[in-house]
Amino acid sequence: MIHFVGAGPGAADLITLRGKKLIEAADVIVYAGSLVNPQLLEDRKKDCEVHNSAYMTLEEVIEVMACAEEEGKCTVRLHTGDPSIYGAVREQMDELSRRGIDYEVCPGVSSFCGAAAALKAEYTLPGVSQSVIISRTEGRTKVPERETVRSFAAHQATMVIFLSAGLLPRLQRELMEGGYPPSTPAAIVYKATWPEERICRCTVEALADTAEREGIRKTALIIVGRFLDGAGQRSELYHPAFTTEFRKGRTSEDR
Ligand code: SAH
Repeated sequence: MIHFVGAGPGAADLITLRGKKLIEAADVIVYAGSLVNPQLLEDRKKDCEVHNSAYMTLEEVIEVMACAEEEGKCTVRLHTGDPSIYGAVREQMDELSRRGIDYEVCPGVSSFCGAAAALKAEYTLPGVSQSVIISRTEGRTKVPERETVRSFAAHQATMVIFLSAGLLPRLQRELMEGGYPPSTPAAIVYKATWPEERICRCTVEALADTAEREGIRKTALIIVGRFLDGAGQRSELYHPAFTTEFRKGRTSEDR
């Protein structure tokens, strides 16, 4: 069996219990060396074989998995954050399916959740934004024309932008041309939950300058939206007058 496992955003204790158990049981681990915390490998069995996928092609990764499978071994494919977000897992799954090899997925804490924790923020503030747009700037990987940052910016919703810390002048321009006022609050969260985590708060118009000043060019999320102001209305869910399945709301006469 092949297990795709989310390693979490960085801190070694932010993997799930299931993910940790799978690492402890693995005979073979293929990990994304560029972003997975190597401390996670310390739990492996003594004779566990380890491969760093940063130096491998898709074909080589599949070969390692297929050989392990033939020998009846347990393989863990360790991906940063959650495998479903920019994880390049589909191509591995398709090839495994084609070869009749079974696989499972163990989710992880994505870095966009790690960044919210670092910011001590809620992305979905009532009265401010009820949507989180996860996207990226186009780099060597193309982004469909109907999904440009510029087009999403028109919503002025909360936006979390991956894989774009090295493309900030362009990102900043697209955010403003698309509809965010230049003074919209923004943050650059570098290596969220790692010991070297850094948070740089600024505005959309200052994103490129801020990153340059701080020397941040990769492993960062760009986060945009008025939720960063902290202002918002209180939730209905915990309002005394709001009735839910579990709690009957009181009118002002009841109180
Ligand atoms: N599957 C991962 C994302 C992989 S794409 C996840 O769920 O988080 C790699 C990009 O993720 C990086 O370029 C960066 O934009 C972001 N990233 C990953 N870990 C990060 C962290 N700890 N802090 C900030 N950004 C991170």
